[in-house]
Amino acid sequence: MAVLEGLEFGKSDFVLLDEVNIEQFMENLKLRFEKARIYTFIGEGVVSVNPYKQMDIYGKEEINAYRGRELYENPPHLYAVADAAYKAMKRRAKDTCIVVSGESGAGKTEASKYIMQYIAAITNPSQRAEVESVKNVLLKSNCVLEAFGNAKTNRNDNSSRFGKYMDINFNFNGDPTGGHINNYLLEKLLRGGSDDMLKSLHLHNDPANYVYTRDGAVATVSTPPPHPPPIYCKMSDSTQGNLQFETDRESVLVVGMGDVSHIAELTSTEPDNVTKSLLYRTVATGGGEVIEKGHSEKEACFGRDAFTKALYERLFGWIVGRINAVIEVKDYNPVLHGKNTVIGVLDIYGFEIFDNNSFEQFCINYCNEKLQQLFIQLILCQEQDEYRREGIIWQHIDYFNNQIIVDLVEQPHKGIISVLDEACLSVGKVTDTVCLESMDVKLGQHPHYTSRKLTPSDKTMEFHRDFRIRHYAGDVTYSVEGFLDKNKDPLFQDFKRLMFNSSNPVMKEMWPDGQLSITEVTKRPLTAATLFKNSIVALVEKLSCKEPYYVRCIKPNDIKSPALFDDARCQHQVAYLGLLENVRVRRAGFACRQAYTRFLQRYKMTCENTWPNHLMGTDREAVEAIVTQHGFQDDVAYGHTMLFVRTPKSLFTLEQERAAL
Ligand code: ATP
Ligand code: MG
Repeated sequence: MAVLEGLEFGKSDFVLLDEVNIEQFMENLKLRFEKARIYTFIGEGVVSVNPYKQMDIYGKEEINAYRGRELYENPPHLYAVADAAYKAMKRRAKDTCIVVSGESGAGKTEASKYIMQYIAAITNPSQRAEVESVKNVLLKSNCVLEAFGNAKTNRNDNSSRFGKYMDINFNFNGDPTGGHINNYLLEKLLRGGSDDMLKSLHLHNDPANYVYTRDGAVATVSTPPPHPPPIYCKMSDSTQGNLQFETDRESVLVVGMGDVSHIAELTSTEPDNVTKSLLYRTVATGGGEVIEKGHSEKEACFGRDAFTKALYERLFGWIVGRINAVIEVKDYNPVLHGKNTVIGVLDIYGFEIFDNNSFEQFCINYCNEKLQQLFIQLILCQEQDEYRREGIIWQHIDYFNNQIIVDLVEQPHKGIISVLDEACLSVGKVTDTVCLESMDVKLGQHPHYTSRKLTPSDKTMEFHRDFRIRHYAGDVTYSVEGFLDKNKDPLFQDFKRLMFNSSNPVMKEMWPDGQLSITEVTKRPLTAATLFKNSIVALVEKLSCKEPYYVRCIKPNDIKSPALFDDARCQHQVAYLGLLENVRVRRAGFACRQAYTRFLQRYKMTCENTWPNHLMGTDREAVEAIVTQHGFQDDVAYGHTMLFVRTPKSLFTLEQERAAL
């Protein structure tokens, strides 16, 4: 058994605190961080504090120490959690998932990568070539996605601007056979990204993005580069065009046609068609007549920007699609190969509160409400419900159920998204402020919604553009400015058609919706918020049928220092990650449970009264005999159908004994 840490490093599991309160929690977290112990368990989950320095704890030696061992045998580590998820998957044929959460810069992406590396390292001991190649592609897909999806922000030099969920599929041997990636909300972030971020991605007004499109990523994806590509998309100034418009006697023109031919060349389209898409839009009149309507200069700029961003977003989506095509499980025959099990790894943006919060923060924070709700369902509710069902005496733990906030956002007809959509779909001019008014009317009474309308003593003060949501993680004030534009699909159909008619087949493939004729597109496209909501609902559905393991990442300070533990910042994160509640439930609860029959089957050989068969009235009595013989009767409770074990150590003793027979 590996040597456990000494007490000078604090408690290795928050469950072992003398008392569960915020003071003790923080004291332990800080002590461990200062002693370079960045991981601490909460049961089967781990809390991680970003060390902001290279740690020598991810080598072969560590991997071997954690491989196949029970939790508690080793000091807390991501590897312990990864191994627990892997074991559950392999031994019990359970689909599992590892949810990595925390705010920007807390270390989610690094943690996900270590988890993937661990899984890759412990699988395929026989080094079968086809499995090795699957592992390779899974690991290296990260580089490609990061190259296109990460950017420097003021919070994180390598910030993921997309949420990522990756399924890894395993065969009955427990070896990876493939995977699948889902990405969330890249486009919308770009749309609303800060100028700095857009600049760093060379996005804003930047037709140079077309270079990517022309060069395509086919080669890069099918043979991933051995080293991570640079974070920045380097591009010389000369390749950055700035396409501008001017108005000359009522008609809008493109300034200097050089950029247009550049675009046409790079997208394999005709210069005339490019100009036309930039300056006109085709509309169907009520009578079915199709006419061309010239843009104003402002509309032309809006269209150009939307087009640039859409190009990038489609390219990213296409790259994800290509990676998926490469890693998708092929030729899997469940009859031949047994059940195909899955470990999902979720690396998704945490809660965001900025000085200025807009549509993007609204989406991200809604996503976090959903994940918190899942956590409550899976860990808190499920657990308490099960104890109640099984008739186990159980002290109820109070926790805040955030379903009410989820409803505030997503409820049909009443929620914020629905009000937004209604405003976007209504004919006539609806402004952000008008939309806000109708939100105030519909939701003004909601306990988690506050209208910031200033009651006017003076007429000019009636004007308002904020609303506030009391999120489970804290209050966030959103500025409604730009909400409607960001929620609408801003891309004129003309651009889609332009791209669909590209003579480059890859380009065409990225724009399938461009084939709709003008009379077919009268149906409104789904709004950004609704598309996002749908994708998050689907994500939660995927996660909720898996056994979850949590990695909670904490950012110790805002200056990327390895030496500073900012108490207030950390405590805030501990609070909104719900870590104390988590510890309470864990402590009041039972770490393991097993149905009597299953337990008996697995351990009956460790007790003379139950081997080979017991002669007792019920399985429960037989299980009691085993438990008593091994002396851990004080560590268990007997439910109607299953045995509950408080600490995993008891089961571990049984496992050892079983293995020794
Ligand atoms: P975002 O939400 O912005 O994508 P994130 O939570 O994914 O943020 P990371 O990119 O994983 O954050 O981490 C930010 C930086 O912190 C890393 O680039 C690295 O410098 C440092 N870091 C994170 N985890 C570790 C670790 N385990 N060891 C050493 N450095 C780390
Ligand atoms: Mg990240």
